[in-house]
Amino acid sequence: MSPQDLIRKKRDGKRFTPAEIDAFVQGVCDGTWADYQTTAFLMAMFIKGLTHSEQNALTSAMLASGERFDFSKLGAPVADKHSTGGVGDKTSLLIAPIIAACGVYVPMISGRGLGHTGGTLDKLESISGYNVRLSKSEFKKTIKKCGFVLAGQTENIVPADRKLYALRDATATVESIPLIVASIMSKKLAEGLDALVLDVKTGSGAFMQSERDVQQLAKALVETGNAFGVKTEAVISDMNQPLGQYIGNALEVFECLKLLRNEPNAQMQPTLDLTIELAARILVLTKICDSIENAKSKIQNVLTSGEGLEKFRQNIELQGGDAKICDNPETLLEKHLFEVKIKSPASGYISKIDAGEIGRVVSAIGGGRLKVEDQIDYAVGYACEKKLGDAVAEHEILGTLFCRSKAHAAKVLAKLQMAYKIGDEKSPKPKLIKEIIK
Ligand code: URA
Repeated sequence: MSPQDLIRKKRDGKRFTPAEIDAFVQGVCDGTWADYQTTAFLMAMFIKGLTHSEQNALTSAMLASGERFDFSKLGAPVADKHSTGGVGDKTSLLIAPIIAACGVYVPMISGRGLGHTGGTLDKLESISGYNVRLSKSEFKKTIKKCGFVLAGQTENIVPADRKLYALRDATATVESIPLIVASIMSKKLAEGLDALVLDVKTGSGAFMQSERDVQQLAKALVETGNAFGVKTEAVISDMNQPLGQYIGNALEVFECLKLLRNEPNAQMQPTLDLTIELAARILVLTKICDSIENAKSKIQNVLTSGEGLEKFRQNIELQGGDAKICDNPETLLEKHLFEVKIKSPASGYISKIDAGEIGRVVSAIGGGRLKVEDQIDYAVGYACEKKLGDAVAEHEILGTLFCRSKAHAAKVLAKLQMAYKIGDEKSPKPKLIKEIIK
């Protein structure tokens, strides 16, 4: 069938066979489909949707467009965690060393931040010398030596997604559940996993806002993972406020090191709680532990004994970074930044925080990217002092902005102040873990 026949077929609401979906992905990769045909096809799929079997066929075709890792010879379970992205979400940097210390291999292929959400690779690059651009052999060597590796997608892993995602981004076809599922799962399946836990975010800082859509996305991701033989679960977690204390690359690594050093403070506790929930689910899915309770206590031991910190140190050394930060996390923090305190306009209780807006502010002062080619300022960011449901007095500090200049501060100050709503009534704090999808 020609591209126009296939476009017409979906335009008219008909179903594809797996062979037709293979032909589409093949055409995208070998260049026989023009970009205008691919984008028309994407829009037809966006509008008419895909059945579960079409969604799985698309995942399978995209997966087959590149190479797959096979770590079965390592002799231990292989697992990963994937998050749909949030503000202050730094759990990857904790989960990887923690579960590696428990005997799970973690080939974590991560992404960069774009828009209001941060990216694991950018956070890691705030560590002096840390290399996320690994060759296939460096990737394999690192996981073999220390149990986990954190790196970017190579040219050869799901090349179909690189092409399709760029076109979706430019044609308003990102927010389609089957297209998201095929994009995320093809990349995760290429890692050669036994188990996968997905952290699907909901709320003001999540990329998908509606709870119904989030639930549907979580279910579709889990169904696809299991259909491909990977034990998969999803945790729907709250993103109605930034996760933990810090937002900003070096600041987030600092928070992770404090947690791995077993030196948490109250603001960091939600980061730890979510980390432990996600990591425990991985330990049960991989049969390292027989219950969530046992898994949580094993993780606690890894944190108190310092084994998680030692794993991270080993990984930083292997990936070329300055591992001295493990002993002195404060050296990650730049001293001469311009600090602005955000103060409460009234007494009352914090009833709303626009996490997405806080993420956009950190991006706007250089902590993130507005365009893919933008350079990042790793040092800047924001520290949360108060969270949803907290009582505040008039002029009490809600948070601190760390930026480069008065001009940067002036550009974003009003936005930060508007990101908070103070109400008269005490409202309950949101539940961090909303639902588990199995
Ligand atoms: N993240 C991905 O990797 N793909 C999508 O389509 C959306 C989010």
